[in-house]
Amino acid sequence: MARTGAGRAARERDGPGRRHTAGRAAARRTGRSHRGGTTPPRPPPAPTRAGALYSAHGNTEARATFYFASPLLDLDRRDAARQQAILTEQFTGNGWESDRLLREMRHASDFYFDSVGQVRMDSWTRGRVALVGDAAYSPSSLSGMGTGLALVGAYVLAGELAAARGGHRVAFARYEEEMREYAAGCVKMGDGVAGFMVPGSRFMAGFLNRYYKIMPYLPGKNLMTSLARKTAENISLRDYGSLVKR
Ligand SMILES: Cc1cc2nc3c(=O)[nH]c(=O)nc-3n(C[C@H](O)[C@H](O)[C@H](O)COP(=O)(O)OP(=O)(O)OC[C@H]3O[C@@H](n4cnc5c(N)ncnc54)[C@H](O)[C@@H]3O)c2cc1C
Repeated sequence: MARTGAGRAARERDGPGRRHTAGRAAARRTGRSHRGGTTPPRPPPAPTRAGALYSAHGNTEARATFYFASPLLDLDRRDAARQQAILTEQFTGNGWESDRLLREMRHASDFYFDSVGQVRMDSWTRGRVALVGDAAYSPSSLSGMGTGLALVGAYVLAGELAAARGGHRVAFARYEEEMREYAAGCVKMGDGVAGFMVPGSRFMAGFLNRYYKIMPYLPGKNLMTSLARKTAENISLRDYGSLVKR
């Protein structure tokens, strides 16, 4: 396991209806932006490890993220010291700016460590209960799609409930119908990004490292953004306001 993308690992593990965890860990820390510019993600060379540094909050902060492939780890979620020790083990001497970032990680007030997982379910509703957002269709933290997807899901569910005047059976069926393809696209995006972030082969890691360096100068530099936008906008939202009789 663990050399493939988060979603692929998830498919191998469980059947529908369970929360999947892919055995990939992420840690994030925030510091002041030290470069004064947007830094594209630059994974270090090991094919099952990736580090990235990006700017946030109007270029006032630099955030570091580490991903590594591993079997699912049995860790106490409150034991930050142990989690940091694991990251240190994984990334020390891994090149790029890893060692400095690991040192700074110990002082981060917003350190975060978790496995990367996706949620795939055959049905998001049962009886009078409906799931929305990550609980129903988490595309993983790697996808960049989770927040928008959750908001769209909430909008569609609320809209269908209103349009059906509270008739939950009709509304739930319409919610699933409207959202199924859109959510699948976002989850697939999570798979694809996982493959890019933690490629799994030295060849691909080497290729991506070179690619990221020249990406800002290439005509197709916005390809990733365009793909993300296409996935995020792949749904025609109904204007429920006009459907609902007042
Ligand atoms: C490190 C990281 C980076 C991410 N980056 C991005 C990104 O760049 N772009 C993007 O779109 N998405 C990103 N995501 C994903 C995004 O955060 C989620 O997809 C999104 O927050 C899902 O929204 P939600 O409302 O479904 O769930 P959540 O935001 O998780 O909200 C669920 C809420 O329910 C509460 N809760 C849980 N259990 C209970 C309970 N028993 N009783 C009461 N309350 C409860 C929780 O405390 C939480 O507040 C990232 C996620 C992570 C972890």
